[in-house]
Amino acid sequence: MQIQENISLRPYNTFGIDAKARWFAAFTNTDELEQLLEQGTRHKVQGTRMILGGGSNILFTKDYDGLVLKNGITGIDELHEDNEYVYVKAGAGENWHQFVLYCLDHNWSGLENLSLIPGNVGAAPMQNIGAYGVELQETFYSLEAFSLQERKMFSFSRNDCEFGYRNSIFKGRYKDQFVITSVTFRLKKTPVFHTSYGAVNEELERMGVKELSIRAISKAVINIRSSKLPDPKEIGNAGSFFKNPSVSKETYDELKKQFPGIIGYNNPDGTMKLAAAWMIEQCGPQESVTWKGYRKGDAGCHAKQALVLVNYSNASGQDIYGLSEQILKTVSDTFGIILEREVNII
Ligand SMILES: Cc1cc2nc3c(=O)[nH]c(=O)nc-3n(C[C@H](O)[C@H](O)[C@H](O)COP(=O)(O)OP(=O)(O)OC[C@H]3O[C@@H](n4cnc5c(N)ncnc54)[C@H](O)[C@@H]3O)c2cc1C
Repeated sequence: MQIQENISLRPYNTFGIDAKARWFAAFTNTDELEQLLEQGTRHKVQGTRMILGGGSNILFTKDYDGLVLKNGITGIDELHEDNEYVYVKAGAGENWHQFVLYCLDHNWSGLENLSLIPGNVGAAPMQNIGAYGVELQETFYSLEAFSLQERKMFSFSRNDCEFGYRNSIFKGRYKDQFVITSVTFRLKKTPVFHTSYGAVNEELERMGVKELSIRAISKAVINIRSSKLPDPKEIGNAGSFFKNPSVSKETYDELKKQFPGIIGYNNPDGTMKLAAAWMIEQCGPQESVTWKGYRKGDAGCHAKQALVLVNYSNASGQDIYGLSEQILKTVSDTFGIILEREVNII
């Protein structure tokens, strides 16, 4: 639990960007975190500080001139249960997918559609992770977080977190103010299956599943994800780089007249969510008709999923960011839609 100087962050971010942290330390409990913050102040550790989980939703565009604190708080506790639910608390440093597998082993339902999302439990509420028709907020019960300003613990209910599409209060008003130390989930003892989204049903059929189970759904999700998303161990990436933008029904109808192939989904509030990947596929740099599969140097747009920007080997954060700027511009020029980045830019 020492503060180290000038540490390469390459092993700590799934983009594999070789940025340096001016200061770096890891903690495994809140006492250690407090001590590190204290030590940092005493040793005049300059600049800002940031919390790092698995580094799978981050793009370092430069060296970090501050203190990077790697969250390593582990532990899974079954708090209590009632007729319907079990309440399970997981340390923020637990690996997300391992936690999902733990829940499957115990037959607790709710997280199976979120299988194989990289990163740690603590970052999951940050952007209300979601996949295959399910969002974290549906099973979220509460979290505990340490206030960097007030230096004490706070508890947040689901309402307090102000969850939205890939969003929460921790990405907005409370950005960089809290260290999430644990998350408590409310999981179903009798499973409710979500199979209508995307290719889940098709994959279950292909697998020959006769009797639906949370394990089968998890396996189907793992199969789909493995077939179309690049494994960060092989090609650096942070999953979807952009969010799917929402527009009014009127705007959608106008776009649909001009671009009959445009893909939109109904939001509960009557607006339409557009598939950003489709729009990115329709645009490209001067030398190509599409961004999909484009590569310049070591920075590129993945060949199977246009939403995913990749680092083939030695791209810098600036290379990836520059590519994202170009994509934003062409999508805006073509469709009049400004895409928002999902990845946290540092
Ligand atoms: C191949 C791939 C597929 C992906 N698929 C999906 C997907 O389907 N759905 C989805 O939602 N996401 C997806 N992601 C994005 C990413 O996995 C998630 O956002 C994940 O929750 C990030 O966790 P992390 O621990 O790696 O966070 P990090 O990248 O370490 O951090 C993300 C942000 O949260 C902050 N943070 C991290 N931990 C804490 C903490 N304990 N307290 C306070 N702040 C903290 C960081 O400062 C940073 O701002 C994917 C990424 C990859 C690489």
